Parts: sequence; C-alpha cells; structure tokens
Amino acid sequence: MKIAILPGDGIGSEIVAEAVKVLNVLDLPFEMEHAPVGGAAYELHGHPLPDSTLQLAKDADAILFGAVGDWKYDKLDRPLRPEQAILGLRKHLGLFANFRPAICYEQLTHASSLKPELVAGLDILIIRELTGDIYFGQPRGRRTAVDGHFPGSEEAFDTMRYSRPEIERIAHVAFQAARKRGKRVTSVDKANVLETFQFWKDVMIEVHADYPDVELDHMYVDNAAMQLVKAPKRFDVMVTGNMFGDILSDAAAMLTGSIGMLPSASLDKNNKGLYEPSHGSAPDIAGKGIANPLATILSAAMMLKFSLNQPEAASKIEAAVGSVLSQGLRTADIWSEGTQKVGTREMGDAVVKALTDNIAMTKTIKG
Ligand code: NAD
Repeated sequence: MKIAILPGDGIGSEIVAEAVKVLNVLDLPFEMEHAPVGGAAYELHGHPLPDSTLQLAKDADAILFGAVGDWKYDKLDRPLRPEQAILGLRKHLGLFANFRPAICYEQLTHASSLKPELVAGLDILIIRELTGDIYFGQPRGRRTAVDGHFPGSEEAFDTMRYSRPEIERIAHVAFQAARKRGKRVTSVDKANVLETFQFWKDVMIEVHADYPDVELDHMYVDNAAMQLVKAPKRFDVMVTGNMFGDILSDAAAMLTGSIGMLPSASLDKNNKGLYEPSHGSAPDIAGKGIANPLATILSAAMMLKFSLNQPEAASKIEAAVGSVLSQGLRTADIWSEGTQKVGTREMGDAVVKALTDNIAMTKTIKG
C-alpha cells in the first residue's frame, strides 16, 4: 500500500507527523513517501505542485495531505500560490467527491459553540462536489465592463457552471452514502436565483428516481446555513456544490467543537483518495506545537477505510481517538475547564499509546 505523504505548510508538517506515527503502529505493509507541496514546494522548486509531487500522488494508492498556504505568499501570481496545489491535485486526479463527516464526540459537547443539547449525538455527512462550480469555471478574469451598473469601469468576473454528468455522479455518491446511514439526503442549492442551481436541483430529482428507498429534500443555501446552527441534527447527508460546500462544511466543523476535529476524504470514481483535515495551514499557530492533530489522524482512518480496504484498522484509530478524549486530554482549541491541556505531540503520543494497548489486548485475546 503506497501512501504519498504531502505535509505542506504551516501546521501541516506538525499534524501529519502525528498521523504518520499512528499509521506506523499498525502492523500493515505501508510504503510511505514524502514530497513537498504548496509554499514548501514553491520554495524548493518554484512551483506549488511540482511534477515530481504530482507524479508521486498519481502513483500512490492514497494521499495523506496536511494543509497549504501562508499569508506571505498572497502577493504571488495566482498560479504560483500554495492553494493552487490542492486545486491542481483535485483536478489532475479527478477527485470530485469530498466527504466531510461532522461528528460531535460525546466528550466534546461542551467545546461546541452551540448548546450541548443541540450537538450531542450529532453525526452528519456533508458531500461537497469538488472539481466544478465557480472555483473551476471558465472564463474568469478582469476586464473593462461594457454593461452592468458601471460600464467602462474595471471589473472582475468568475463563471458558475455545472454539467449534467458532474451533477449526476455526485448525486449517485450522495444517495449511495445515505443508503449506508440514515437514508436521507438534503440537496442544498440556490435554485431561486441561480440557473446553475435550478439545473442542479432538476438533475438531483431525476437521479433520485433510482433510489426510492432514500428520502430527498431540497434547501436553499441561506436556509441551510441557518438550519446548521439552529437544528443541525435534522440533517443526515447534505450534498451541495463546490462553493456552498466549502462554506457550510466549515460552519459544520464548529458544531463538533473545533475545525481541528474534522477529517475529510476527496475521492475519484475508483475510490482512490486524498485525505486531509478540513482546516487550513493555520499560520497563526504554526510552529508553536499546539495544533490539534486529531482531524489529520481521523483523516488517516478514513484513508484506511475508503482507499486501502482496512476498515478494522480504521475503527481502531477512531476508538483510540475516543479513548484519549475520554481520558480528558485536549489541545487548546477543544480545551475546557476540568480537562488537561496537551500539545500536538503529546496528543499524537496519547493516540499511539491507546492504539498500541488496543492492538496488544486484541493479540492477547486471540492468542
Ligand atoms: P485555517 O483553517 O488555517 O485557520 C482558521 C482558524 O482555525 C485559525 O484560528 C487557526 O489557528 C484555527 N485552526 C485551524 N486548524 C487548527 C488545528 N488543527 N488546531 C487548532 N486550531 C486550528 O484557515 P485560514 O486562517 O482562513 O487560512 C490559513 C491558510 O490556510 C490560508 O493560506 C488558506 O488559503 C489556507 N487554507 C488551506 C486549505 C487546504 O490546504 N486545504 C484549506 C483552507 C485554508
């Protein structure tokens, strides 16, 4: 099982190191190869996604990714900015389906910014289309306006677009995922204003005909934002486009206590995937040893489940994370009165210990 390890920038190397430590405890034949990406790759090779890194990602069975970006690169031409690396990987590898589970661990209900009763037992799955929409639509650019409110003035524009096959394939992913859980899909759109999302809704309804056992409802994105903070448990699977999903999944992250708890998987049509925490490179806390590594460790668990066919090992990692939370260990972002504050490395070590103990116990029982 070949895994490409792309730590990236900011806290990326700190959190990925902890996930690698956890993977190394498992008695599985991994071959891990590291490569620079984002700002780190720009410094070394003059490009955020060098050919060698892209080739490694293509050759691997799965990719474990940290995060990219730093304010210091904001003045670079857009194609050279670190964030282009993740967009490039999604595009070149055809990673169109982004899974972002938002699960509120019982031990963290008090770390959420919502009342505990609103988030206790929360388990929703946001599926975000990842390679289309306004983030990739052409044309885009700057020009002199020929019409609009201020003809003759400078303007910028992007293009929102979705083709039928793009919507159909993400719809199938969402309905199939719902079948394995609560059998409910909420499709989030802005069909009242945008033609692109009226089409999205029409195609969702058509594809739904293949899944009579799954319930489908529709919600405008503004209402979905409100419902996420008002009554998040009403959702099971939420499916939406690239931009709406980007925003809503970050809001959902806070329901779980911290964005530092939220893993993600970005899959191609064969379930090959890139696994990364839902957060960015957090330049404000980089190098301080205080970042929460759990989202990355849980992303590694998703990798074992979705791409490497090791569901048992994935469950063991998830159980180890639950165990360290039960012990009361917390990084700063999820700390609350009465719990023990630990740094990135101590949190990783605690997960390693819980996992090692679990594996040893299983061997004893089997022996
Ligand atoms: P961010 O997610 O990096 O940080 C937002 C806030 O959450 C910050 O206060 C940060 O300290 C905190 N935070 C994030 N991860 C944390 C963790 N694991 N533990 C504890 N606290 C954590 O978002 P931002 O500040 O908007 O962006 C910073 C950089 O990251 C930018 O350059 C942005 O473009 C980039 N970014 C990259 C990705 C990616 O690589 N996929 C995604 C989002 C943002």
